Amino acid sequence: MEIPYLNLSVQDDSRRRELLDAVETVLLHGRLILGPEVEELEQNIATLCGRRRAIGVSSGTGALWLALKALGVGPGDEVITTAMSWIATANAIAMVGAKPVFVDIGADLTMNYNCIEAAITEHTKAILPVHYTGKLCAMEEILTIAKKHNLKVVEDAAQAFGATRNGKVAGSFGTIACFSLNSMKVLNAYGEAGIIVLDDETIAEKLVSLRYNGTINRENCVTPSLNGRIDTLQAAMVLVSLRHIQDKLARRREIAAFYTEELATIVTCPQVDTNELHSFYTYTIQTPRRDALQSFLEEAGIQSKVYHPILMPYHSAYQDSGTWNIPQAERSVQEILCIPNHENLREEEVQYIVKKIKQFFS
Ligand SMILES: *Cc1c(COP(=O)(O)O)cnc(C)c1O
Repeated sequence: MEIPYLNLSVQDDSRRRELLDAVETVLLHGRLILGPEVEELEQNIATLCGRRRAIGVSSGTGALWLALKALGVGPGDEVITTAMSWIATANAIAMVGAKPVFVDIGADLTMNYNCIEAAITEHTKAILPVHYTGKLCAMEEILTIAKKHNLKVVEDAAQAFGATRNGKVAGSFGTIACFSLNSMKVLNAYGEAGIIVLDDETIAEKLVSLRYNGTINRENCVTPSLNGRIDTLQAAMVLVSLRHIQDKLARRREIAAFYTEELATIVTCPQVDTNELHSFYTYTIQTPRRDALQSFLEEAGIQSKVYHPILMPYHSAYQDSGTWNIPQAERSVQEILCIPNHENLREEEVQYIVKKIKQFFS
């Protein structure tokens, strides 16, 4: 059996038809830039996140950069974030001219809120938690710390569309929240896209301006910025994805529950508490025998992934950024392995993956 980690080709005939119909509609009306589908997507996402506004942008990275810029974070400021994420998180902070301050993670791989207060200085402007793997950070605790120290909170919800904690969805907690909609993400475009959600109308208008070269009425530039608009074509296809998102999340959660039931005694499985729903962008197991397990699975035809094998502060670009106390992240990064967990996996594939992992440990 050959099981790829993820296959982005659209095999399902009716889904492909739906997507092509959506594309055809856009080609016929011709409003390729900020067309009606962009507005429809923004309204739907704002509603789903319980927010006043949503602003479609060209990527998740762009969303983070624009969010920080709109909040006035810049040179001389510090932003506290996690050590473990895709480098886009740190890059967005660096690209507004601020300094990323990295704190450790907990056993669940998300930011350890107990480490935040010790990292706060007079220069700290914001906290940027990442709902890593699709599990929400301890947002109540993080918001309490932010309020006490008068800090903004920008959620990096790139991996967490549809995840909830105490009944509240990803993207509904921070001052601003950012989603990536790239083709690998849970809510996906067919290419690059992202979206920002928030409540503050003034900041929302600033974001609308910043996403198009910092212009007012697309003419007079009031703040130098870049072009970060979302394509109408991508928005139209994300709307198709949105119609099916609940089924997709349900199937991923079902597979995840089966994995956990079968594997929890031999590897560390994702921790899902009773007050939360995971979005399972990845199903990430942890084991000290990670490398050997990955090779064993490869030989059995099962592709697995080590997402982000370099902690953000240890990328070459950040090597001189400081010394960081991140022992849990240093340990976990050696042990994490993402196994296939997507809606198109067949039952016998899921069974086979479990069988092979058990075989490795027996
Ligand atoms: C994917 C991702 C991003 C960046 O999103 P793009 O749309 O690829 O630019 C940022 N942060 C995290 C945690 C991500 O997983």
